[in-house]
Amino acid sequence: MNFSGKTVVVTGGTRGIGRAVSLAFAFAGAAVFAAYLQDDAAADRLNEEAIGGSGTITTVKADVSSQAGATLLIDTAAAATGAIDVLVNNAGIIRDGYLAMMADSDWEAVLHTNLSPLFHCCKWGIRKMMAKRSGVIVNISSIAGISGTAGQTNYSATKGAIISFSKSLAREIGPMGIRVNVVAPGMIATDMTAGLRQELVSKVVQGSALGRIGQPEEVAAAVLFLASDQAAYITGQTLVVDGGIV
Ligand code: NDP
Repeated sequence: MNFSGKTVVVTGGTRGIGRAVSLAFAFAGAAVFAAYLQDDAAADRLNEEAIGGSGTITTVKADVSSQAGATLLIDTAAAATGAIDVLVNNAGIIRDGYLAMMADSDWEAVLHTNLSPLFHCCKWGIRKMMAKRSGVIVNISSIAGISGTAGQTNYSATKGAIISFSKSLAREIGPMGIRVNVVAPGMIATDMTAGLRQELVSKVVQGSALGRIGQPEEVAAAVLFLASDQAAYITGQTLVVDGGIV
């Protein structure tokens, strides 16, 4: 796929799935702006990995759960051409625990980090897209938002909300030529899943149709498809990339 001349914004774009998405767009020719929260070393590594691609990656340290961070990211990305062609809302966290024992802070942190960037980045991003009457948004949900996961009520609540948010926004801005879709990954090999109980990861993976964990690049491929003109007539949809877990 060719994204030459396109400006692409990826939140949480320096590690895991976001890193793979950033690299895939950059190697397809895009000017990528990858936001991250705190891990400067991961951002530096990504900058090195992007060398040799036909596009570019600019890392932006910005907490996209705040309006200030989101506008910094969007304005930085739009500075060159005034436009944003693709916005990938990928930043997210887990704070797992059974509901009866869940700390208020774990509930609030997950809702805030997983949903506020969606509000702020879409709000400021679509203002740029509306001016051009074109653009694509891909939001990263999870199969937890479709089928639910014990120990993840906070996370599942946000991931389900991402799907319904995206359906509503797709109806709202479709008439302006802007598409909104969702990718819902299953169990993907990143730092996030490395922090889970590995017997739980194995159990889920072994119960899937393909019987293996997914790779970030396999999620990135779905994101690029939905962002491309190949998906020009697809909006408001959720593409599950889970090796057959759901
Ligand atoms: P990682 O934990 O590997 O990476 C998360 C990235 O998000 C990092 O770059 C991190 O920055 C960034 N980030 C977190 N909070 C913020 C913030 N407030 N502002 C800016 N950047 C932020 O996550 P994954 O790659 O595993 O997950 C990516 C997305 O995919 C998440 O939304 C997750 O819910 C979803 N997902 C993941 C699955 C999996 O199996 N891994 C399965 C289903 C969905 P920093 O490096 O500075 O910390």
